Amino acid sequence: MFDVIVVGAGCAGLTFSKFVAEKGFRVLVLEKEKSLCVKPCGEYATNYDFGGVRFDEIYGSRKGLNKRYNHFFLDYYGEKVKINAELIDIDKKIVYKELARQAVKNGAEIRMGEKVKQIKRCNGFIEVDGKKARLVVGADGYSSTVRRFVGGKKPMYFTGIRAFAKKDLDTPTFFVNDDYTINGYAWAFPKKGGLVNLGVGGFFRNDNLKKGFEKFCEDFGVKPFSVEGGIGPCSPPIKSYYDNVLLVGDSCSQISALSGGGISIAMFCALKAAETANKFLKKGVLSSKRLKEYEVSWRKVLMSPLRESFFLANVNNSPLKKLLPKKFVTNLLKWRASSKSLL
Ligand SMILES: Cc1cc2nc3c(=O)[nH]c(=O)nc-3n(C[C@H](O)[C@H](O)[C@H](O)COP(=O)(O)OP(=O)(O)OC[C@H]3O[C@@H](n4cnc5c(N)ncnc54)[C@H](O)[C@@H]3O)c2cc1C
Repeated sequence: MFDVIVVGAGCAGLTFSKFVAEKGFRVLVLEKEKSLCVKPCGEYATNYDFGGVRFDEIYGSRKGLNKRYNHFFLDYYGEKVKINAELIDIDKKIVYKELARQAVKNGAEIRMGEKVKQIKRCNGFIEVDGKKARLVVGADGYSSTVRRFVGGKKPMYFTGIRAFAKKDLDTPTFFVNDDYTINGYAWAFPKKGGLVNLGVGGFFRNDNLKKGFEKFCEDFGVKPFSVEGGIGPCSPPIKSYYDNVLLVGDSCSQISALSGGGISIAMFCALKAAETANKFLKKGVLSSKRLKEYEVSWRKVLMSPLRESFFLANVNNSPLKKLLPKKFVTNLLKWRASSKSLL
């Protein structure tokens, strides 16, 4: 019998596991892939103050953290706007490896290559592919099996194409331009060794995404390599607590709909989930009524910026945006950057 079974060894699952195993609870992490961090990503983390705690404090290491930037640029139809917000260039594979090391050091067990297929309730416990636990955590991303088990609402989604290219770039930059995506944005993030991580992302499946990506690379003057596609949620967050079950990260859409940024948000929510789990595992009560404390704690800090991010994403995705003066939109984004809605 495990105290907790965590489904998914992404940044949400690993962060949760290290904080719960630290308190002496028996934690098992099941990950379907044979290695960590296979999903394509822009590999930049925001470092906002989430009610007194930041990404790098939750992470608790410097491994895989590269250059820090105190601003980025938004290229809005050719008009360049400076937005003040701290971003960290991360090497995500190293960060995931380090999070896994911390979780294992604290006593968690991680099993790679174990795809969770069947989850059922059984006399007040939960059985995950035949293994029993008092609590199950769905940290299994956008297509979450755990969310399906509890009947959670499937979030809307964005699709993205990510690649690398050789180019010297000083500052991370987002591009809003219909030539690249009608309902999203393109990005170019400087990486080590004269490389950039670049790509496009847009609401829903988008048949023109490939064409937009090619046009973006052409305008940006680069030949992309390691081109990969990815998918993520882009709704406001859905309910994250049920009897004996918590959802964390992409599985319950804890992500900025505007930027598609979810790493530091998932890790903050994982910390909050761990605090609630530690309290109620100790008390031996894991009803949804008690576990709601988790949802209340992350909502207090994130709900308003995430709702606003969704609102701004909808403005960006609306054909009506063309009617708004450029100056109005860029000033709005500049102003809201400090409110975390551009996470
Ligand atoms: C193209 C793209 C670029 C992005 N760029 C950025 C960026 O630059 N910065 C940023 O902050 N965010 C970015 N994001 C979003 C970010 O990747 C996610 O928000 C973040 O990874 C969420 O973490 P997670 O742990 O919740 O989920 P995930 O990282 O998706 O991890 C879920 C894990 O669960 C595993 N899993 C799934 N199903 C099962 C199962 N049945 N059994 C066992 N294991 C299972 C998966 O293999 C995976 O390892 C990007 C997303 C995309 C698609």
